Amino acid sequence: MFMPLRQLTGICAMAMALLFLASCASPIPRDGFRTGALPQEVTFWKPWLLNSSRTPYRKLWVEIDAVQGAEPPQAWLDELSAFLKAQCDKPDGIRVVRGNSIPLAEAASTSITSLALKYLDGPPPGSAFLYVMYYNSALNPALKTANPHAVVFPYPCAVFVDRNYNEAGFGDVLGNLILKHEAAHLVGAARDPSHGDGAHCRNKPCLMNPTFLYVPEMVALGLSPTPQDHFCADCLADMARWRATPPSPELRFNGPFLARRAQGYSVMTLPNTVHLHLGSAASLPISQIRTAVRQAAAGPLRSREGFILSVSADGDPASVRAALAAAAQDPAGPVRQAAAAFEAQLAAQPDMPRITIP
Ligand SMILES: [Zn+2]
Ligand SMILES: [Zn+2]
Repeated sequence: MFMPLRQLTGICAMAMALLFLASCASPIPRDGFRTGALPQEVTFWKPWLLNSSRTPYRKLWVEIDAVQGAEPPQAWLDELSAFLKAQCDKPDGIRVVRGNSIPLAEAASTSITSLALKYLDGPPPGSAFLYVMYYNSALNPALKTANPHAVVFPYPCAVFVDRNYNEAGFGDVLGNLILKHEAAHLVGAARDPSHGDGAHCRNKPCLMNPTFLYVPEMVALGLSPTPQDHFCADCLADMARWRATPPSPELRFNGPFLARRAQGYSVMTLPNTVHLHLGSAASLPISQIRTAVRQAAAGPLRSREGFILSVSADGDPASVRAALAAAAQDPAGPVRQAAAAFEAQLAAQPDMPRITIP
């Protein structure tokens, strides 16, 4: 761990997200590193390859939403674009596009998840996708103050940045680097446990170390206030390996959803949300599924980790039951929990429910 020269402020952002997922199994010690491996449900499908590799998507679309007053400067977005162009193999281009400006009043009484589910538009067809939302918990007291973080499960392509979080520390001075750090989580930097914990890098001068060394006096001298403005050779090697590795053919962006096809069912994810579709993936009813997710978000069904769960079914009862049996064995816990809830609904109802659990 760094000894502070002047001020030490952590951005163990991903670590915090994972703490939420697996606080009992894998505690985060004081130095910001995990003591255990990333959960299998986070890593087994290697979703970051969709954004790193040129297959199946030769383009990457990055949507930047912001609550009014928290919009990121264009320079940060330009740096993000340059980083992704260097580290992802997308020969048909990378577009970083400002999306919705969310009214302050809209964010006055809701959660980040609700805002994302309402405002996330998703990529145009044929593009991989990253989602970034900026907000400022100082302007929106209803939004909890949170460390900027990349979400690695269940929708491992989203970054949430609270502009307020680091105000007392390095604040906006490092806003460009924080955005790059979070985006790098989503294209596989530091994922190799040989030089870190599978999330962050042990090399102290690396941008993927969980702790920033920050020397504010350097700004007055016109110098970088941190030595951690670049990725180490190990993290660069991670990203180089991932961009040369094709993802599983079962992974797709489908509208705004990140979809994983399995035996007789599909797992459709959005921020903090898992939808299980039992039936063919050939004609996923995306608009119906989106409606089901909206209903579920207002309903009571949550996974043990607090994820919003919903289920849809399409097909003859025998094939739906076969898909349900397979989903009950899925590697991801929230999918198994959604399957169990649907099973209970089937048991309580003589006719096969066609669409959703709450
Ligand atoms: Zn991090
Ligand atoms: Zn590194």
